[in-house]
Amino acid sequence: MSERVLVGTGVASADDGVVIAKARVKIPGSIVLSNQPGERFNLLDVKVALQQMREQIEIEAFDSHGESVEILRAMAIMLSDKELFEEIKARMIEGSDAATAIRGSFAKFARKLADLGGYFAERSNDLTGIAERTISHLANEPADEAEDEKKILIAESLSPVDLSNLPENIAGFITQQGGVSSHTAVMARANKLPAVMGVVGSGVIKDGDTILLDATSGQVFINPSQDEMANYRAAIATEVDLSLETPVPLLANVGSAIEGGSAIKAGASGVGLYRTELLFLGRKDAPSFDEQVFEYSRLLARFKNKLVIARLLDLDFDKPLPFLKPAGSGDYFGRGLATLMANPEVIETQMQALARASSYYPETELWVMAPMVVTLSEAEQFLEMAKQYDFDKLGVMVEVPELATPQVLSELFKIVDFVSIGTNDLAQYVLKRPRSTFRSLSDAKHPEVISTVASIIEAGITAGKPVSLCGEIAGEPEAAKWFIDLGASSLSASGALLPALRQKLAV
Ligand code: PEP
Ligand code: MG
Repeated sequence: MSERVLVGTGVASADDGVVIAKARVKIPGSIVLSNQPGERFNLLDVKVALQQMREQIEIEAFDSHGESVEILRAMAIMLSDKELFEEIKARMIEGSDAATAIRGSFAKFARKLADLGGYFAERSNDLTGIAERTISHLANEPADEAEDEKKILIAESLSPVDLSNLPENIAGFITQQGGVSSHTAVMARANKLPAVMGVVGSGVIKDGDTILLDATSGQVFINPSQDEMANYRAAIATEVDLSLETPVPLLANVGSAIEGGSAIKAGASGVGLYRTELLFLGRKDAPSFDEQVFEYSRLLARFKNKLVIARLLDLDFDKPLPFLKPAGSGDYFGRGLATLMANPEVIETQMQALARASSYYPETELWVMAPMVVTLSEAEQFLEMAKQYDFDKLGVMVEVPELATPQVLSELFKIVDFVSIGTNDLAQYVLKRPRSTFRSLSDAKHPEVISTVASIIEAGITAGKPVSLCGEIAGEPEAAKWFIDLGASSLSASGALLPALRQKLAV
């Protein structure tokens, strides 16, 4: 397994989702340009630089297509804003060097735009990019040196203008800031540049690290293992033949509505795991009811007459959220359902939002499940809360050994409608080894893990209830065959793995 896996919002066009390349880390704001008496840069230089930038961006707009054109034109207009130039001038007269004056003035304008909200707020991020480009231009430094080797750009944030100016060798990008509806995302998709945005912790990536960027699932693998790279390469190289039948439905693990779109193109016949936490990550406050309804509706709309299994927010140690009080005990402290139960407004709002979205798309079958359930009584509490909504089925994830004993399973299947097995966690808790230390998918194919999975499936068959598998090994062909033979009702894996899996499992 990779040294580390980070998650964010994947931005992928239908056919370009995965890139493997070395990281190129971009450090913004490092240039200082002196304008002390007798030194290099005066106001006239700044004025000329702004004008030249404007011309350059107009040329880029001319060479672009689709929505990029409008975005670039708006940027060009901002560069000749009189108020902006007056602000830079005032700052330089007060003694700021040219770079600091440009950066400060653009930042002030960005704040003004951000305060206006909506469309203008989205544009505010663009200004930071133009400021840095203007400074590089003034200093006569190339914004980014050209290289032949394919690279993935790692940055705190990137504006649409930055994207229009990327060197040819940049094959994808990862940013700490930004979201799926930003103009940067719009431009990335328009230019078929896979990206993962809003990645908390992307600062750990070093120049030269090997990065596997999966924009379809929003995952970033840092220094992935040979196995992981081989699996992904096979998936990329495989053409989807949707006419191939498989013994059980192949569903996709997705983190957003956008990714749902890519999953359909990859042949998913539904969503086996909707990781709703991606909507909550990296935020100070929980997303509002309306925002959740909007996002859930967009996903359900894509899967009309198909199944979507939504998992309630799953907190993890590596993705703590400031608005949630952690709960639970021992190894499971701070994770899953216990933490959700300790935060009733969050879980209730989420279920209400799912129910509302479902009422708009009744043709989509919506099953809802709780993450990291540890005891029967937790499962009962969840079902009690959830049954007041009209979800098609209610279930739980089985991903800890305490819930996977024959006695507990036979009681569990009496109360739930279905179970989904999370082998990523199950493997780490059964084998008592952190999941970050698994170097390949094969590590989880351990006899103890497989026999635990077998007993869960067997209990489901005895009870006549579906058991789906949604850990990463569900996407590994040999393990997938075992699970089908054992009687799993469906398999769910990252969309990028589905085409190759379909081919291997075809009957
Ligand atoms: C799992 O644990 O197998 C699972 C699918 O959940 P996650 O990877 O989101 O913890
Ligand atoms: Mg899990």
